[in-house]
Amino acid sequence: MNLMRSYSLLAPAKINLYLEILGDRPDGFHELIMVLQSVDLADQIEICANGTQTIHVRCDHPQVPGDSSNLAYRAAALMSQQFPDHFARLGGVDIYINKQTPVGAGMAGGSSNAAAVLVGIDLLWNLGLTYDELQDLGAQLGSDVPFCIAGGTALATGRGEKLDALPGLDNLYAVLAKYRTLSVSTPWAYKTYRQKFGDSYLKETALDQRRQQVHAGPMMAAIAHRDGAQIGKLLYNDLEKVVLPEYPQVLQLRETFQQIGTLGTMMSGSGPTVFALAESQAQAEHIKQEMRAKISDPDLDLWVTRFRQAGIQVIE
Ligand code: ATP
Repeated sequence: MNLMRSYSLLAPAKINLYLEILGDRPDGFHELIMVLQSVDLADQIEICANGTQTIHVRCDHPQVPGDSSNLAYRAAALMSQQFPDHFARLGGVDIYINKQTPVGAGMAGGSSNAAAVLVGIDLLWNLGLTYDELQDLGAQLGSDVPFCIAGGTALATGRGEKLDALPGLDNLYAVLAKYRTLSVSTPWAYKTYRQKFGDSYLKETALDQRRQQVHAGPMMAAIAHRDGAQIGKLLYNDLEKVVLPEYPQVLQLRETFQQIGTLGTMMSGSGPTVFALAESQAQAEHIKQEMRAKISDPDLDLWVTRFRQAGIQVIE
């Protein structure tokens, strides 16, 4: 058997087209219903078998740790625990992360890196794992990791790890806006939400009812019809209720997108990235230029991204 020694993988970011918090879970996480969408803004991950019993991670981005707290490292450590014979025989990995996605941005950058490492080690060790098996491993690392593996458009329930694929939306674009030096802590956002809105959380049977309502509701219909205008009107994120009042810059991005006129605008995940939907590359570029004209702050980063049909992709 001739095993490859290294792989290069694309690890795309995601946005949330829909995020509703339904209630509490016994494990301390929240019961969610979300629509997740991959975009073509991606990190590049190089993963190389090093023939030693060690794992190394390197990333040039100042906010990304180069030690065992890196989610990519944790993914490799999980694989070495799950497949100790392969680890003993074939050795660990050197991982290099070329960071293109913003960090702490509500775009699952770290989760996507971890997903790429699972896929990369599956290939390096010739394990032949199925998507389902990779996603089960991913769920042990973080709620967004399973989605990042297969990517595309998906309905996510549970704490985000239960996935149903939805029809692809390759006709749409998202303009992303984020202040470079602004981050929002995901645990803070959920904790604050629980403090403010915990009283209205749904219980057992009501949870299932609400899931069915969303499943049969207008957002799913708009996606099935690939109706960008309708999707834009139906964008939703409960976490805006706690993040917007606390972070005026996020509110400002949202309001500025609204003034420009887009298919719709929303914060992604726990923020602080805000996105606006567009139905063509030209419209997206126009929105980006208008944003730049209205907010001259050099701390503001803007990207034009296209909706992607897939998650982790091997590039060489
Ligand atoms: P999510 O949408 O899942 O909440 P996020 O985009 O808000 O994710 P990340 O970019 O994944 O957040 O990073 C959150 C924190 O995790 C950062 O503060 C960073 O220090 C840490 N981290 C660990 N590993 C990574 C990684 N590989 N890439 C980015 N951040 C990482």
